[in-house]
Parts: sequence; C-alpha cells; structure tokens
Amino acid sequence: MKKLLLIIAVGMCRIASAQDDWSRLDKDMDIAISVDTLKEGKYSLIYIDKAKDFDEKVKNRLIETFFNTYPKLAKKYNKAAITKVVFVMDPDYKGIAAAGGGVIRFNPEWFAKNPGDIDIVTHEGMHLVQAYPGGSGPGWITEGIADYVRYVDGVDNDGAKWSLPDFKADHHYENAYRITARFFVWLEKNIKKGTIVKLDKAMRSKSYTPEFWQKQTGKNLDQLWELYKSNPTI
Ligand SMILES: [Zn+2]
Repeated sequence: MKKLLLIIAVGMCRIASAQDDWSRLDKDMDIAISVDTLKEGKYSLIYIDKAKDFDEKVKNRLIETFFNTYPKLAKKYNKAAITKVVFVMDPDYKGIAAAGGGVIRFNPEWFAKNPGDIDIVTHEGMHLVQAYPGGSGPGWITEGIADYVRYVDGVDNDGAKWSLPDFKADHHYENAYRITARFFVWLEKNIKKGTIVKLDKAMRSKSYTPEFWQKQTGKNLDQLWELYKSNPTI
C-alpha cells in the first residue's frame, strides 16, 4: 500500500501520516539515549531522545511549551485531539520538524542553531490538534492556521525573533505560513471574530469549500484579500 505522505514545503514543516511515524517508533526506542514519560492531567508526552549532547535546557523548554500550549489549543480547537503525544529528537531527520498521528519529529541541529525557537512545539502541536483527514482542503490553510496559532498562543516568539512579516504587494493568501497567518489575524480583527475556529472545524470535518468565506463573512476570499490589501494594518 502506498503511504500517504504530503510534503508541504521542504525544510519548513512536514505533515506526516500517522502510519508513517508510529511505525518508526520501535526503531527509535531501540537506539534512543533516553526515553522520558511525562504526564499532566489527561495529557501525556513521551520524549524519545536520539541526539547525543542535546541541550538539557532546550529539552525542558520544549516539554514545558508542550504542556503550556497543547491542552489550550485542544480546548479551543478540537476537544477530541489526541491526548498521548510523542516527541522524537532525531538526528536522522533532516527537515526542521514533522507532525502526524500524535508524533512530532524534531531535528536537533535546528535547535543547536536556534535554541530559542521553542514555539515550533506550538506550530507542530497545532498540526496534531488539526488532525485533518486527507483531502480536507488546501495546504496553505493548514500551514496558515498553524502559524496563526503560533502568533496568538506562542509562549516566546520574541525570544525566537519570530514575528509576522510586514505586508507586501506581492503577497498572496496562498503563500501559506506567516503570510497567510497575518491575513488571518487581520480577518479576526477587522471582519469576523471566530472565523479561524470555524475554518479549522470545516477542514477537520471535510466540509470546507471555497464558499466558506462567503457564508462566514458575506464576501468571497478574493474580495477579502482586496480589502486586506487596501488596509493591511493589524
Ligand atoms: Zn506546519
């Protein structure tokens, strides 16, 4: 059977299928340096460390960020989100991070260079909360929402020097990530609060269609983008 694997953008973030990541965990465990199991309320986190000499402080901050953000995001967006999450700190993984089916795989090299970028946990954790089925809708929405959530609920974006970019005339909502996230922030502020929660639900239930915007705001997506372009202040 062909594995369902959706590559969103090389080097940024990958959405992995549940099968893809769970099937590798036994192997990960075998060669792990340490495996920690942490629990807070109904949420548990298994931290599989395959990286030699990974900074203990960064590790602790990643764990802390998970328990700070994930339960909040599940409550806000998807009360049925998976409660048992696995982190794999994996030197064999060459992207930045990948999420799927309850597993988040991180590249330790990224944190060696960017030790403050702990809200990757917020972005990737949101992908687990999203749990969109195949064919739920466009990838730019998936990544736009994950960065929107990082902007709204991230714990230390300043420390990572992570922020939304200034608007530029050649931006487009389909650019995904921060460019789309900025548009979503503007939408929530200026057009209709609660739109992103509804958009996320529509994606998960596979009921998203391009008519979503018209129904939700009275304007279609291109009309909304034109309005945004005319006054993109957030
Ligand atoms: Zn992502």
